[in-house]
Amino acid sequence: MPGFELFGDLERQELNDVLDNGVLMRYGFDAMRNGHWKAKSLEKALEEKLQVSHAQLVSSGTAAVSIALAAAGIGAGDEVIMPTFTFVASFEAIMMLGAVPILVDIDDTLTLNPEAVEKAITPKTKAIMPVHMCGSMANLNALKRICDANDLILIEDSSQATGATYYRKPLGSIGDLGCLSLDFVKIITAGEGGAVLTNNPKYALHADHFSDHGHDHIGNDRGAESHPFLGYNFRISELHAAVGLAQIKRLDEFVAIQKKNYTIIREALSQISDLKFRTVPEGGEESYSFLSFFLPDLEISRKASAALKEAGVDGCFHYYDNSWHYIREWQHLKDLKTLYPLSKEVIDGLSYLQTKTFEASDHYIGRNISCLIKLSWTEAEVKTRAELMVKAITSVFK
Ligand SMILES: *Cc1c(COP(=O)(O)O)cnc(C)c1O
Repeated sequence: MPGFELFGDLERQELNDVLDNGVLMRYGFDAMRNGHWKAKSLEKALEEKLQVSHAQLVSSGTAAVSIALAAAGIGAGDEVIMPTFTFVASFEAIMMLGAVPILVDIDDTLTLNPEAVEKAITPKTKAIMPVHMCGSMANLNALKRICDANDLILIEDSSQATGATYYRKPLGSIGDLGCLSLDFVKIITAGEGGAVLTNNPKYALHADHFSDHGHDHIGNDRGAESHPFLGYNFRISELHAAVGLAQIKRLDEFVAIQKKNYTIIREALSQISDLKFRTVPEGGEESYSFLSFFLPDLEISRKASAALKEAGVDGCFHYYDNSWHYIREWQHLKDLKTLYPLSKEVIDGLSYLQTKTFEASDHYIGRNISCLIKLSWTEAEVKTRAELMVKAITSVFK
């Protein structure tokens, strides 16, 4: 990760197809296209690769989450359960619809703790949204059981784990809806972009119309189309889709490279007895985008993080002190700093953030370090890196 490390002829060729005919929009202009439909082709490729009946490409992963929620009818005042450790996109996408994000503790999988999820359910809960962080997954069978028992919708955010599988099924294809991001730093990138994945024909139709102003996409005169319901514009462009189309063809290649690099580093770190790797739920196989581990306590983890930086090992994150991914630093959310007035439901619904503490999440995130696995490293570079990491981490125990 990220896919841009290995941009090459395939990306160039797909992009040139678009520039040659000049149609940068995904809909219409049939005569000008010379048969090139990059967004449509990428949707088809995603459907095949990720084993869903419908993939709806959109402008970003954040948009994909909002669209997935909207497609399932989730909106004003509804509660959506999400993890404390994720990207800010998760609560942004929920709040966009006037719904209320309910933050719930994680466990040693670095994703939602099913027991904590169960305790957080109220009569207002509509959906559970696990976020498959850092290349691995939530315990989806446990979450599915909770959803079934409580009549809730399961929405997977697999933005950081595209290419990982759960009992051999691709992440994103298991819940009622799945979301992925194709932004610049993801395993396959389109520059910007995202997708909503589903096997539910109603949600598929909703996502298709909602992401393009409610257009019904019937016939080939866009101006004459009708609008069964309101929508917005979350379209992807043909330029972005072209790059994504080249990259999806390389997903298996990327996962294989990551697995090779991950394995070398993991084997080296296994020598450190006080280091414990993150738990991958039974039946899961990671995308190997990150190698995540726990050290004995917060102080040691902070020191190890500093020692890794000092040693020149980049791309290792101690998320406890990071403002993008963990509740601790989301002051703008806790203070409800918005440009516009929020509804009373959202203000009241988020008041719990003033007092609620997340000790279990602090326990895991405080001790966690996650290291990015790159695609462009040579084997010699990976080996040197592994040695440097062992040295840096063991130095803090002395
Ligand atoms: C990247 C990411 C997103 C959002 O994707 P964008 O395409 O950047 O909007 C959502 N969730 C997670 C976990 C992410 O890592």
